[in-house]
Amino acid sequence: MTAVQPSPKHQKSKALKPGSRPPAKELCSECGLCDTYYIHYVKEACAFLNQQIATLEESAHGLSRNLENPDELYFGVHQHMMAARKQEPIAGAQWTGIVSTIACSMLDRGLVEGVVCVQNTPEDRFGPMPILARTKAEVLAAKVNKPTLSPNLSVLEQVEQSGMKRLLVIGVGCQIQALRSVQKELGLEKLYVLGTPCVDNVSREGLQKFLETTSKSPETVVHYEFMQDFRIHFKHEDGSIEKVPFFGLNTKELKDVFAPSCLSCFDYVNSLADLVVGYMGAPYGWQWIVVRNQTGQEMLDLVTEQLETQPVMSRGDRHAAVQQSIPAYEKGVTLPMWAAKLMGVAIERIGPKGLEYARFSIDSHFTRNYLYVKRNHPEKLEAHVPEFAKQIVSQYQLPES
Ligand SMILES: Cc1cc2nc3c(=O)[nH]c(=O)nc-3n(C[C@H](O)[C@H](O)[C@H](O)COP(=O)(O)OP(=O)(O)OC[C@H]3O[C@@H](n4cnc5c(N)ncnc54)[C@H](O)[C@@H]3O)c2cc1C
Repeated sequence: MTAVQPSPKHQKSKALKPGSRPPAKELCSECGLCDTYYIHYVKEACAFLNQQIATLEESAHGLSRNLENPDELYFGVHQHMMAARKQEPIAGAQWTGIVSTIACSMLDRGLVEGVVCVQNTPEDRFGPMPILARTKAEVLAAKVNKPTLSPNLSVLEQVEQSGMKRLLVIGVGCQIQALRSVQKELGLEKLYVLGTPCVDNVSREGLQKFLETTSKSPETVVHYEFMQDFRIHFKHEDGSIEKVPFFGLNTKELKDVFAPSCLSCFDYVNSLADLVVGYMGAPYGWQWIVVRNQTGQEMLDLVTEQLETQPVMSRGDRHAAVQQSIPAYEKGVTLPMWAAKLMGVAIERIGPKGLEYARFSIDSHFTRNYLYVKRNHPEKLEAHVPEFAKQIVSQYQLPES
């Protein structure tokens, strides 16, 4: 692979200087685009300056979502969904390591020359350090979530300069929207996009506050997840698991912890990735796979033999719980821990499961985010909220102001 000069158009553009105010101002999700000469395209590409999910769905998948189809309305364009887990999980991965396994397999078989992913900094296990990985060892070193805003696209300049022609990018929705928008400028023959869902992300300082407010031992947390059993599971250095019910969260303290970009985001399900690997539409303990197009199927096929799978399922009715959660969140209601635990047990028994749990989570976040944009950026509301999200939010009664 030979090092090449960036195209003349890009040589003229300069990345944002460290410390300067980003074009999306407080709504910047630090996706990394503006750390490169691709800042040239930011007005069009940034998910918070120019919401264009439907147009990009059309170019990525050949069609945008059919709002009449209830599954597409919620989960985006897809060929099929399933629940899966690795027969032999990767130790230390966020779930069973399906994402890392696909990426390794693609390198192994020469489908791609590099993988954009995010390792952690040497001094901080949660500090994001995006890389352009060229080996399986580098991909595996990126396993597990860095639960903070991460400038994954900051390594895009290296792609063009390296002369790489076949690339896999792993990322969350805002990163992938910007990527799709500049994809034709990268000089690639083939781009593969492996996405994860994402919600309620935080800055590194916000993460610290969240850990300190919620865990008994914030400094030993190595991994955490908001689980389908309505509890946060914190895994500690000694392997122990601490479970905190969602309903026991200190909502008042945590209201301002989420990044403004995440409070304004409606792409929870990573609509523009070829393949999405999350957990929220799967039964407890399983990962959730959404194959959006033929490229996504090609990626999944590489690892199918290593997976145990089952069809997606759906049980329960989320509507009443979502409607009740709206005023509770507004008032910052926090239950005493005994009541939160009791409520957690009850809701685990009778609450929404599988795809209905995913809809519960999407509805709760979209109603909250709609109110956030309406109150804080009313001038953006109409263009920024995609049609599918408006339809989802319209099922609920929201406060007038
Ligand atoms: C910030 C965040 C929030 C999420 N929220 C949800 C959710 O609400 N619902 C849901 O169903 N799934 C969510 N996911 C996805 C889920 O937690 C798992 O990441 C996914 O199921 C893959 O698990 P795995 O074991 O296959 O991944 P692993 O094999 O452990 O690989 C994880 C991959 O994630 C990438 N990554 C890590 N941190 C980031 C980051 N900050 N930005 C971009 N890429 C990153 C790494 O490069 C690595 O390749 C979220 C992921 C992230 C990063």
